[in-house]
Amino acid sequence: MDIQASDILVTGGGIGGLAAALALSRQGADVRLIEQAPAFSEVGAGIQIGPNVTRILGDWGLETGLRRVASFPQALLARDARSGRALGQLPLGERAERVYGAPYACIHRADLHQLLLEAVQARAVPLQLNQRLAEVSQQGHAVVVRTEQGQQLTPALLVGADGLWSRSRQAVGLTDSPRFSGHLAYRGLVPLSVPASEPQVTVWMGPRLHVVHYPVQAGRALNVVAIVHGQLPPNPQDWDHAAHAAHLLQALGPVCRPLQQTLESVPNWRLWALNDRPPLTSAAQMGQGAVALLGDAAHPMRPYLAQGAGMAIEDAQALAQCWSSGGTVDQRVRRYAEQRWARNAQVQTRAIRNGRIFHAHGPLSWGRNLAMGVLGAKVMDVPWLYKGID
Ligand SMILES: Cc1cc2nc3c(=O)[nH]c(=O)nc-3n(C[C@H](O)[C@H](O)[C@H](O)COP(=O)(O)OP(=O)(O)OC[C@H]3O[C@@H](n4cnc5c(N)ncnc54)[C@H](O)[C@@H]3O)c2cc1C
Repeated sequence: MDIQASDILVTGGGIGGLAAALALSRQGADVRLIEQAPAFSEVGAGIQIGPNVTRILGDWGLETGLRRVASFPQALLARDARSGRALGQLPLGERAERVYGAPYACIHRADLHQLLLEAVQARAVPLQLNQRLAEVSQQGHAVVVRTEQGQQLTPALLVGADGLWSRSRQAVGLTDSPRFSGHLAYRGLVPLSVPASEPQVTVWMGPRLHVVHYPVQAGRALNVVAIVHGQLPPNPQDWDHAAHAAHLLQALGPVCRPLQQTLESVPNWRLWALNDRPPLTSAAQMGQGAVALLGDAAHPMRPYLAQGAGMAIEDAQALAQCWSSGGTVDQRVRRYAEQRWARNAQVQTRAIRNGRIFHAHGPLSWGRNLAMGVLGAKVMDVPWLYKGID
């Protein structure tokens, strides 16, 4: 395949890279994508996608596919992990559609990845596997990309969607490494013989821990994520480790019976060390010259606002709009970076803050519980986020 002939090269075929390829192709751009893996796949488990994201997926013609594979929770319920007490509730379901114009959904990552992949393939976007970006540099107005497999490519625009350990970042002078958050995520899926009739997202909060669960696969499985504080496992880049329920239960300490039962129903746990980067501080960190960074390559975040993939999808939509709005490549990239950096920084910052609130102990946890009890949905809703982008 002659990758060099295309205007735009996307590196990375995760949710962000596929979303970028789809959005750019829909705007008529000549776009291609390379992925280091030998096959397109998404491991991991479920993700939540807010109305800001489902609206974009709808614009891209994916609503029917989403309705087929996702679950649509009626509410977000916060509970105390030790006592089991209900702390507060945010109605989702019909309210999300009425207030924000689009649904709140929970979906298995592989299902979302597959929806995007099929849409990209339907547009005949060239996709090349087994190509790992090794080096990228900008010389004048040109960007030169080399892959470990020996290809040299000179697209008009490089979209760096190569995730947390991105190499595309070097093209805009960013050489810092991701940082370990001190938090470990245990993740598992419980097959449900009877799909949940009242699907909801439940967040259990406790000192230095929280657990989130919600249905995925159209209600056929429950996705469970437990976050605890802990040490960085060896090989942090190998994020998907086998894990033991006994280690998790020990790290959690005592929890209420219903939560204990849910945790015990998980047949197989996987462990992810959670890394992020400090919130963005300037537009230049999202792109410069002929390189635009997108998703985790630009702004990896803690998953406590459930928006990492969501922001990658918003980035993709914004990039495609900026690309089609004319001007030089440099001007289009600058427009994109200026449009996106502050919102991404705000989401990164809010995610860090949510982690502190979820894991609070002592007086801070009393204040949290009181605020949720008195103000309920008002403290749990995030209108500036769910309203989405234009
Ligand atoms: C525990 C947990 C829970 C989460 N929950 C949510 C949630 O509820 N909602 C939500 O929106 N987000 C959530 N997220 C975040 C979300 O998973 C990520 O933000 C999102 O998947 C990032 O997508 P990406 O495409 O930018 O990066 P990635 O998914 O990392 O994809 C990068 C791709 O680039 C490829 N690649 C890497 N290097 C190279 C190279 N050198 N050359 C070529 N290809 C390369 C990789 O193989 C991969 O396919 C969660 C994350 C975690 C850890």
